[in-house]
Amino acid sequence: MGNILQNITSVSPCELTPAGDFTLPYSDTPIQSKLSQLRPAIAHILQRALEGKMLNHEEAEALFYCQGPETDALLHTADIVRELRTGNDASFVITRNINFTNVCHMGCQFCNFGVNKNAGDAEFLAPHQVAARAKEAHARGATEICVQGGLHPDLPAGFYGDLLDTVSSTVPDIHIHAYSPFEIWYGAMKGRKTYTELLTDLKQRGLASMPGTAAEILDTEVRRKLTKNKLSTENWLKIIETAHNVGLPTTSTIMYGHIDGPSHWAAHLILLRDMQARTGGFTEFVPLGFIHNDSPLYKNNPSEVRTGPTADEHFKMHAIARLVLQGYIDNIQASWVKMGPDMASKVLRAGANDLGGTLMNESISRAAGASHGQEIVPRDMVNFIQRAGLNAHQRNTSYDVVTPYGRDKKPAHQEALVGSEVAKPVSKTAKPAISPFNAASHIPVKVSA
Ligand code: SF4
Repeated sequence: MGNILQNITSVSPCELTPAGDFTLPYSDTPIQSKLSQLRPAIAHILQRALEGKMLNHEEAEALFYCQGPETDALLHTADIVRELRTGNDASFVITRNINFTNVCHMGCQFCNFGVNKNAGDAEFLAPHQVAARAKEAHARGATEICVQGGLHPDLPAGFYGDLLDTVSSTVPDIHIHAYSPFEIWYGAMKGRKTYTELLTDLKQRGLASMPGTAAEILDTEVRRKLTKNKLSTENWLKIIETAHNVGLPTTSTIMYGHIDGPSHWAAHLILLRDMQARTGGFTEFVPLGFIHNDSPLYKNNPSEVRTGPTADEHFKMHAIARLVLQGYIDNIQASWVKMGPDMASKVLRAGANDLGGTLMNESISRAAGASHGQEIVPRDMVNFIQRAGLNAHQRNTSYDVVTPYGRDKKPAHQEALVGSEVAKPVSKTAKPAISPFNAASHIPVKVSA
């Protein structure tokens, strides 16, 4: 099921920092003045990004090594490009995460979610129970549910389709965003179907889009250590491309901050951009920082495995993704689930334009004995966006505006862009869409403090 199942940061509304306490992640010196002070190589890359030019692997990798004033200019550039590409709004979606089982026998080294089927805390929701949760979510205003589960050894081959039949007949108006590429790999193997056959069948039975999770790092050597390469880079790409070809949009993700580094990150971004150039099926990119708590990967090799990304790396990942993917994948999500809402709010001014989903996952977390909820209510989403100086709106899975919340925030970079040679937006995605919440929605049942 992929990186979605790591522990997450849990937040209850009472823990949120009051709106208004916000500092931009870069200084207010004009961008051209900043560029004139940098090493020419870095200034050249950032200038090219401002002009809408496509960055290559070497340029993307070089940006990950930026320090001090270079990082400041990188984040500032990403904020300008964010405004050019997506305007002065940031969004969120009301969605519910439903993990139908935490039983999994894949044994991914970074996972702290999957349990043995005989474990005392093993859980399984039958299709009618998933449908009941979807109905409850719909009644609370959710436009989407995100459904994923572990790879249960006893799962019948027809389970994935049966679940869709039950949910779509019970709640026909809700968008079903479901099944990671790992689950599609598993379902195809169990049912002896090709990816095209399985995905076409699932689409006909109500699947509307898929989370692009389980991507981790699209590098064979790293994947061998993370997952024994059970779902290979080639298979992840093949399943995603097949989904796009049968008309199922997907999100895209990366899990960073473990045994990986800048070269892997740059290659990963370029692979996603290349795929988008072929299919146009990605709706967003969601960086997901590795959370080391309780993961075998870290516990077994604490001297070799990092404890997740630094704050500096969170900023850089979102900023560089914005620059590398601009015109291809123009929705960049800051996952409050992984970074916490305070950090996610700041990242909205370093390249991101979406805060993901509200999650609405309280019943699951309570069942797991969590002391906090796994939900941010819509008014807090609005606060976290507005405090970043952006206009907020609730969107649906397809990024259509559902509810706007004020239009009083003015563009921040108009002055900086007047007279510049910034290129016009050139999105190759006809309509950026689909659940940014995807990856964030892969909520673990266990919750870390
Ligand atoms: S072990 Fe299972 S639940 Fe955990 S990440 Fe791997 S596939 Fe997903």
